[in-house]
Amino acid sequence: MSERKNNGSMSTAAGILLIIAGIMALITWVVAGFLLGTVGLGLSMVPGAEGAATILIVCGVIGVILSILTLLGGISALQKKSWKFALAASIIGLFTIGFYFISSILSLIALILIAISKQEFYGEDSSYTEPATTGRVCPNCGRPIPMDAQVCPYCGKNFKE
Ligand SMILES: [Zn+2]
Repeated sequence: MSERKNNGSMSTAAGILLIIAGIMALITWVVAGFLLGTVGLGLSMVPGAEGAATILIVCGVIGVILSILTLLGGISALQKKSWKFALAASIIGLFTIGFYFISSILSLIALILIAISKQEFYGEDSSYTEPATTGRVCPNCGRPIPMDAQVCPYCGKNFKE
């Protein structure tokens, strides 16, 4: 039996936090973007105010894009796909200021969790000693695993399923 059952828990928590932050930020920015866009369109009717109108609309669009990136980063962290993308998304999340900075705070916690859970993404754990090669490899991650393993010690894949 595996003693490493909590494999990936930090990145999972970070992923959930980022998804919540991303959704919050997205709601905030869709509403804000709509308001900014409306004000922007109004301003664009005013001669000489086209510059300000463009800035307002661009701000709204950037906010929505940042929110979507944060959300995608959360999904990436849950799937442990790309550590760099999840890390970048949590940094981007800091600037989303959804629901008056709640999404920024969640992103900060996610950033810390992702930063310290790098090995969860790559399955690298220096404290774990490599078992003797048996010729059996995990069909999920391709790493050598003990002959009698029922759960992959690297990726947590359950072979009994
Ligand atoms: Zn595996």
